[in-house]
Formats: sequence, structure tokens, C-alpha cells
Amino acid sequence: MTDLIVTDRKILRQVSKETTPQEVESLGLIKRLREANAKAWVNGAGLAAIQIGVPLRFSWYTIMKNGQVTEGTLLNPVIIQRYGIIKEKEGCLSIPHKYTEVERAYEIEYVTNGKKKRARGYLSRLIQHEIDHMDGILNDERKKS
Ligand SMILES: [Zn+2]
Repeated sequence: MTDLIVTDRKILRQVSKETTPQEVESLGLIKRLREANAKAWVNGAGLAAIQIGVPLRFSWYTIMKNGQVTEGTLLNPVIIQRYGIIKEKEGCLSIPHKYTEVERAYEIEYVTNGKKKRARGYLSRLIQHEIDHMDGILNDERKKS
């Protein structure tokens, strides 16, 4: 059975807990998030576990890289550096048909699954959006900085 994407803000405002690769595996989270995304009102770029009602700091995403669709995951991600600010419209699978302008860092240095990485542009924005979900923040409720 496919998980439904949660739109109930009471659930979405929960702060998710840290998780482990073993827990992600045993809950089948990658498959569940991939399937929920495929059945959503529009195919999104990413989905955090809380968006299928699982309050863990895990997210699955898909992006175009060198002309190919590439999947990635975030496990207990933490941003350690931010560079530049850019304001753009963003959608969210939990907020159907609404696009909100949000200020995000253009480039970030972050840690996921214990590894240090860098992202800029679209992927940087996506990761910041996903971490917001893990902290219970929805893009249209975000405080202006
Ligand atoms: Zn979202």
C-alpha cells in the first residue's frame, strides 16, 4: 500500500528524531518515499520522512545531474556553512498548488550520514527545504530572516 503524503500541519510541525541507516532500511523508507512521490499531485523533487508520517531525520530526493535523473538521500543532515542568499519560489508536496518565495543560502556545506558535502543552487535549496521539514518548518510559515 502506498503511503499518502501528509498535509496535516499538526503532524508536519513535529520535530523529527535522528535515525540510523539500519532503521531507514527496516522501515523501507526509500521505497516508500519514492512511491509516495510518484503518486503525488505533481512529482516532487524530494520528500522528507515526516511527509509520510514518519518523524525521522531522513529524506529522499531526485535531481537532474549531467542530464540524468539521480536519486539521493539525506540522513541526519546538518548545515555547517552558508554562502550567499537567493530568493526564489518554492513548492511543497504537503502544500498542494501553492508556491511561496523563500530566501535560502545559495551554497551550503553540510554533513549527511556523517559525510561532509557541498551543494549549490537548486540542490542547496532542496536540502534546506528538507531540513526545514525535519525541524517542523513549512515554507509558507517560515519566519522572514
Ligand atoms: Zn516540502
